[in-house]
Amino acid sequence: MRSLESDTVIKENIMNRIFASSINKDHIGQNLTLVGWLEDFRDMGKIGFISARDMTGNFQGVLTGGLLSAFREVPKQSVIMIKGTVQETRAENFQVEVKVEKVEVMSRAVNPLPIDPTGRVKSSMDKRLDSRALDLRNSRISNIFRIRSYVLNLVRTFLYSRMFVEVNTPKIIGSSTEGGADLFGFEYFSRKAYLAQSPQLYKEQLTLGLERVFEISPYFRAEPSHTVRHLSEFVSVDLEAAFLDYGNIMDIVQELVLSTINDLFVHHNKEMTYLENKQEIMVGRIPRITYQKCLEDLRSLGEKIEFGNDLSDPALKKLGQIYSSFYFIIDWPTKLKPFYILEHEKKPELSKSFDLQYGYLEIVSGGTRQHNSERLRNKLLEKGLDPNSFSDHLQTFEWGMPPHSGCGIGFDRLMMILTNSTNIREVVLYPRDTERLRP
Ligand code: ATP
Repeated sequence: MRSLESDTVIKENIMNRIFASSINKDHIGQNLTLVGWLEDFRDMGKIGFISARDMTGNFQGVLTGGLLSAFREVPKQSVIMIKGTVQETRAENFQVEVKVEKVEVMSRAVNPLPIDPTGRVKSSMDKRLDSRALDLRNSRISNIFRIRSYVLNLVRTFLYSRMFVEVNTPKIIGSSTEGGADLFGFEYFSRKAYLAQSPQLYKEQLTLGLERVFEISPYFRAEPSHTVRHLSEFVSVDLEAAFLDYGNIMDIVQELVLSTINDLFVHHNKEMTYLENKQEIMVGRIPRITYQKCLEDLRSLGEKIEFGNDLSDPALKKLGQIYSSFYFIIDWPTKLKPFYILEHEKKPELSKSFDLQYGYLEIVSGGTRQHNSERLRNKLLEKGLDPNSFSDHLQTFEWGMPPHSGCGIGFDRLMMILTNSTNIREVVLYPRDTERLRP
C-alpha cells in the first residue's frame, strides 16, 4: 500500500493553500491545495468522500483508485493536505468539491480520541476541559473564543476613543490591597507575597498622573466557591477616571455594553439572535434601580430583606424575574461597600455605588471613590483595617489626588451573556477553580 506521508508536497504547496470558505464555482477546473482536519470519510467502495475542516469551514474531497485504498486507514482528526481539481458537486452542504490527485497525511491523530470534537457524541464538561485543545476543533466552541477575542478588541477600541490609557499593574503584591481574606499567598524571596485580587489601589493612584486608565488582566480570588459564575482566576476590565462620578461611569459602561452588543448583531448575527427581544437593547438605556427600590420589589415578591443586608442569591434570582436583562442597582448601603467607596453627603448611610446585573448575575461593580486622605484613613479604621498597611497608597493622596470614579467589569461573566452560556467555564479556555489546576 502506498504511504500518504511525505513532505515533498508540503514544501511545494502549503503556502498556496486556499481556505475552505473561499472555494466556490469560480474555481471549477482549477488545481488547488487545501489543508485541514479530517472529520468524515464515506467509503462507497469504488469512490470515497472526505470532509475536512480548516479554520474557515469544511471542504469535500473525492477519492478513487489507489488513493482511496490508502486513505482507508487514516484516523479521523488527522491533519491532511489534498491537491486536486475543483468540480461540480451533488452534495447539499458544499458549492463544489475537489477531485483529489494527491493526499498527504501531515500529522496522524490517535484513535480513539478522548472526546468527539464534532459534538455528535456528547462529552461532559470535565472531559471536554481535560482535552480543551481538541474541544476547540468544534466550531460552536471555537466560535465562543473568536467572539471573545473580537469583544476584547471592541472594548479596547471603545475605551481608547474615550481617552483612556491602557496600563499594566503588578499581579505580585506585598500586602492585601482591599483587606480581604480571599488572597492566594506564597513565598517570595523569603517574604510573604500575594496574587492581586484587583488593581483597585494602583488604578486609583494612576488617575493623578494619567487621568483615565484601564487594565484588562487576570485576577485571583482564593474563595472556595462552587458556582457556575466564580473562578479562582478571572479576567476583569478595570477602569478608573478622574473628574467623573459614578453616574458618568454608568453612562460609559452602558455605552460600552450596548455598542458591543450592537456591533455583535452586525458581525456575529447568528450567535446573537437570543438577545434580540431584550427591550433595553432596543431603546439603548439600562434602567437604574436603587437598592431601596429593590428591597420594595422583593417585598412584593414575598422576600423580606432588612436595609443594610446584602441581596442574597435567591433574592437576586427573584429580582431577575422582574428585571430579566441588564439593570443597574445603585446607592448600596455604605456598610456593604469597601472602604474606598464614597458615601452620599446628605445620606451617609448610602454610597455612590452601583452594580450592573444581568438577571441574577452581577457583571460590574463600581462607584465614586474617596479622594480625601483623612477620610480614607478614617474609613480604613472604621472597617477594622490598619492604615499603616496602606501607607504607600495613603501618601499618594497627599500629592493632589483628583476626585475619581471607576469600576471592574467581570469580562468572563460578560462573555457568558454575549455567548448565551450558563457556565463561566464555557467561556474561559483553561478555567481554574477549587478542583481544576490542569491542563
Ligand atoms: P460576587 O458577589 O459575584 O462574588 P464580587 O462582589 O466579589 O462578586 P467584585 O469584587 O466587585 O465582585 O468584582 C467586580 C466584578 O468582577 C464582579 O462584578 C464580577 O463580574 C467579577 N468577578 C468577581 N469575582 C469573580 C470570580 N471569582 N469569578 C469570576 N468573576 C468574578
